[in-house]
Amino acid sequence: MSIAENVAAVRERIADAVARGGRESREVTLMLAAKHQPVESLLEAVEAGVHTFGHNIVQQLQGAVAGLREAGVTTSNAVIGPVQSNKLRAAMDAADRIDSVDSLKTATRIARRQEARIAEGLAEGPYPVLIQVNSSGATTQGGCAPEALLDLARAIVELGLVRVDGLMTIGANTSDEAKVRESFALTRELAERMRTLPGLESATVLSMGMTGDLEIAVEEGSTVVRVGTAVFGERQREGTLSVYPARRIEDGAAARTW
Ligand SMILES: *Cc1c(COP(=O)(O)O)cnc(C)c1O
Repeated sequence: MSIAENVAAVRERIADAVARGGRESREVTLMLAAKHQPVESLLEAVEAGVHTFGHNIVQQLQGAVAGLREAGVTTSNAVIGPVQSNKLRAAMDAADRIDSVDSLKTATRIARRQEARIAEGLAEGPYPVLIQVNSSGATTQGGCAPEALLDLARAIVELGLVRVDGLMTIGANTSDEAKVRESFALTRELAERMRTLPGLESATVLSMGMTGDLEIAVEEGSTVVRVGTAVFGERQREGTLSVYPARRIEDGAAARTW
């Protein structure tokens, strides 16, 4: 199957889930998880109508953004993995949004750097982020604890130079569909509560759902699904374990999607 055919198949899965979820035919953005993909593959996806990519590794983000720009295509690129503080500056310069912010410490660093970027004429206004929530409670997952979210969101708004556009989560790592659904529903409820806070009224982005669980996520209100395997095929695992979401290598559930 070509990347274009795979993109079409994923779009069909999304459309079916939108219909089943009884939602308005509201748009769900297909973000492709680009880890380890060469720029050629990303360009094939662009040809197939995809304009949004998520990156786990800052160096790959930089390479992809440079390659896509060189090819003359306009894309949107987000960071979807943890960012080390010494990579934050490079990540902010290359990405349009950081979707994996889960602490005030990181948000404060982003605000400080954004202040400098504005002074240097590199940016205007606040830097956009999503707050990552650990909706499954798995200790292997990134994200702030659900009970800490509202305080964190409030504190980030106070920083002034970071704009919270919504939430990101990785669903529960289990073949128990009810548990997966529960983690997405929790994230949606948290987003609804967050939007009642001052300065957070327009934080409408809900990034949830991957190859193995995107239908459930869309039924539960996802506005961005992050898909890798279903479009690019199985990734090479050897030597690259550190960049995989912990859930994929943690237990037997891996067999479902790999
Ligand atoms: C790799 C990755 C995805 C995509 O996972 P697939 O199961 O391959 O679709 C989504 N989100 C994050 C954070 C990832 O690292």
